[in-house]
Amino acid sequence: MEAVMIRYGEIFLKSETVKRRFISIMTENIRLALEAKGLSHRIETPRGRILIFGDEPRRIAAAVAGTFGVVSASVCTMTSSDIDTIAAVAVEHAGRHLRPGMSFAVRARRSGVEGFNSQELAAAVGSAILDRVPEATVDLSTPDYEVFVEAREFGGLVYDERLKGPGGLPYGTQGEVVALLSEGIDSPVASWLMMRRGCRVVHVHMHGGRFGGTDGEETVLRHHARLSAWVPGHPLDLLVVDMEPFFEVIIALKEPRYRCILCKRFMLRVAGILAEERGAYALVNGDNLGQVASQTLANMAVIAPAASVTVLRPLIGFDKEEIVERARAIGTFEARAGSTGCTVAPRYPSTAAPAATIVDIEEKIGAKDLAVRAAGTVRVYRAKNGEIA
Ligand code: ATP
Ligand code: MG
Repeated sequence: MEAVMIRYGEIFLKSETVKRRFISIMTENIRLALEAKGLSHRIETPRGRILIFGDEPRRIAAAVAGTFGVVSASVCTMTSSDIDTIAAVAVEHAGRHLRPGMSFAVRARRSGVEGFNSQELAAAVGSAILDRVPEATVDLSTPDYEVFVEAREFGGLVYDERLKGPGGLPYGTQGEVVALLSEGIDSPVASWLMMRRGCRVVHVHMHGGRFGGTDGEETVLRHHARLSAWVPGHPLDLLVVDMEPFFEVIIALKEPRYRCILCKRFMLRVAGILAEERGAYALVNGDNLGQVASQTLANMAVIAPAASVTVLRPLIGFDKEEIVERARAIGTFEARAGSTGCTVAPRYPSTAAPAATIVDIEEKIGAKDLAVRAAGTVRVYRAKNGEIA
């Protein structure tokens, strides 16, 4: 019989109560992911392990390896926990991959089973494999082939493949954040990193109206839908805010170099209002130190206080290349096509705006009222399983 075994890394370090809660949230997320793919299954959680049984273990493993909190997934053969049976099954596995001249290693674990220790288990399995493929050699540091065997109170497990999962913490264990989503490359990655860290996410996009690009909203909707595919079964909301009235006001100001600061503060102010309305704990954006004028340390210090809740910047220390690589893996990378850019940005934005000047301008234009009004214009797009509902 085959089963899919899940490894969940860091959750192991939690206290028993927290661990139990996290594992129950993760198994529920796994159930939703398998349900979304139409894969019937049964989940069991014997001590320290999550095992999934079903008719299509390979497809189950692939689906589960996309679930936050999962470090890796393996399709295992389940046996009884006696040493000879485990060795015989391991020989079958090795027979499929191990050729004469190749090196191999047996990685053995044992717990709750008497009569042998893990070294003895490894040695018995290793010699059974050498009987079958005598021209193979043992190499414990850099083997060409590895087979994993476990003897546990609930039975024996044999496997030789690991599908890598995203790691992180189960989605929904860390409370809610409001993530500012743009049509760019960075913000979808920032949102994904917070999802991976267990936060429920609500997306906010500030729509520039006639001042923004023409394709911006479509691109944002694609990012939004794509990100929802990472949390199957969970609805993901995108709140689109109309920013046109604010832009009307700031293009009339005589100091164009402060526009980006005013704009970014306005976005945080509106997102803060929406976060408080929903009881979300923090805002998330794709800021990356030194990337553009509004992301200098000096300007971030002037911008952040406009938010009424904490601003998290998961990409702050990344290099652009790393962000692009992640965006590709997540599925949100798009070489920019069409017109998405902002038309309000000045040619020479200030890299160190004086806070007092900014506050004065905001008072003059009534930025707080404009923000409250903008927060009232929200259009909601709900995505689920990779599609806009
Ligand atoms: P990205 O950073 O996503 O590549 P960008 O480079 O166009 O987009 P920046 O000017 O770098 O955006 O803005 C920094 C962050 O501010 C973004 O990562 C995003 O979180 C937020 N942001 C920018 N524009 C918008 C918008 N129109 N709506 C919502 N959030 C936005
Ligand atoms: Mg950016």
